[in-house]
Amino acid sequence: MNPRRRFLSLALASFALASFALADASSLAAQRAPISPDRLMPRLHALAHDSMEGRGAGTPGGARGRAYIERELRAMGVMPIGDAYQVPVRVRARPGADSVGANVVAMIPGRVPGGPVLVLSAHHDHLGIRNDVIYNGADDDASGSVALLALAERFKAEPLEHDVIFAWFEAEESGMLGSRAFAAAPPVPVERIALNVNLDMVSRHEGGGTLWIAGTAHYPFLKPLAEAVVSQSAVPVRFGHDTAGARPSDNWTNSSDHASFHRIGVPFLYLGVEDHPDYHQPGDDADKVDPAFYASVVSFAELLVRALDPQLGAVHAARSATR
Ligand SMILES: [Zn+2]
Repeated sequence: MNPRRRFLSLALASFALASFALADASSLAAQRAPISPDRLMPRLHALAHDSMEGRGAGTPGGARGRAYIERELRAMGVMPIGDAYQVPVRVRARPGADSVGANVVAMIPGRVPGGPVLVLSAHHDHLGIRNDVIYNGADDDASGSVALLALAERFKAEPLEHDVIFAWFEAEESGMLGSRAFAAAPPVPVERIALNVNLDMVSRHEGGGTLWIAGTAHYPFLKPLAEAVVSQSAVPVRFGHDTAGARPSDNWTNSSDHASFHRIGVPFLYLGVEDHPDYHQPGDDADKVDPAFYASVVSFAELLVRALDPQLGAVHAARSATR
């Protein structure tokens, strides 16, 4: 596409997005009750329980974590894309561990299936057991994994317009191997994937209680859409952590599985909180999570996805124009 036409289609897409932002998004929150902590906390305690042994990639505890997610999906009637929920992923074998893990992948068909797709993601793995200490990874990233289960429940009950893929990635903590494998061989043609919304560490508020949205510096056409629902969030939401900062670690562009989508030109929004003292420590436990804060974040994630959904065609067009 030549630069002039490219500019025009980008401008048109931005206009469509901006006018939606003004018109329709303000009523989204009023339409439904927020997600209750009851839909989150029992699952968070289950997935971040010592019996999951820190969900290390390729470990028996990791397999138990995946089985738990699969059981929950079956119980709510959310189906895999092919025959199986678990898609094998090769991982780096550690002593006593297998060299094969898996992504857990499911889809909720939209009211108008077959068009652009939104991929909602989190990672189910964490650090496992190190020096006989279990790293439960409640915030990182049982919180995102359980958020996806709660969102699946909501979107099953009240489907979106577009198909939504739910992906629980393997081995994020050891090189984002699961999301890289997904991006290399996605379960639907890659051209259909309009957007990735990635949740990683969404339950702790020690870092100031702010939920960050990263990605709009790279994909500015997403900002008016997200901005339109920010005022309806019960927790403060800020945009950033997607450009060079004072420290290299301030830029989260490549810090979680959304990087695997960004790398292949799929726009992303990443939702997460600031690092906290229990980040990658044995103390990242479910009992440190404030249920009300966590539920507010997941409720906002639902609002955000429901605001993005009717505009996914425009997002997809903007994505194509920027490639
Ligand atoms: Zn993580």
